[in-house]
Amino acid sequence: MAENHETNDQATAVAVDLNTRVSLLEKDNMILRELLWLRHGCSIINLYGDDGEMQCNKCGIDFKRDKPESIKQRFYDLNKPAIIEYLKRTGQAG
Ligand SMILES: [Zn+2]
Repeated sequence: MAENHETNDQATAVAVDLNTRVSLLEKDNMILRELLWLRHGCSIINLYGDDGEMQCNKCGIDFKRDKPESIKQRFYDLNKPAIIEYLKRTGQAG
C-alpha cells in the first residue's frame, strides 16, 4: 500500500510540474505574441489593444488568437521582404 501511495504522490507531482510548465509556456507565448504585435512592422496607429486584444487593423492579424502558422502565412502574403528573405535564408520558407 505504501508503494501505491508513493506512486500516486509521484504521479501527482509530475502532473503539477507539467501544469506549472504549461502555464509558464502559455505566459511566455502571450509575452512573445505581444512583442510581435507591437513590433511586426505596421504603425502603432493601426494597433487595437483594448481589453487585452492584440489586433492590427492594417494587416488583419489577430495576434492573440491566430495560430503562428497563420500569422507566418499572412506575413508571407503581405510580401514582407525582410521576413521572406529571413525565411529563405534559414530554410523555413514554406
Ligand atoms: Zn499589421
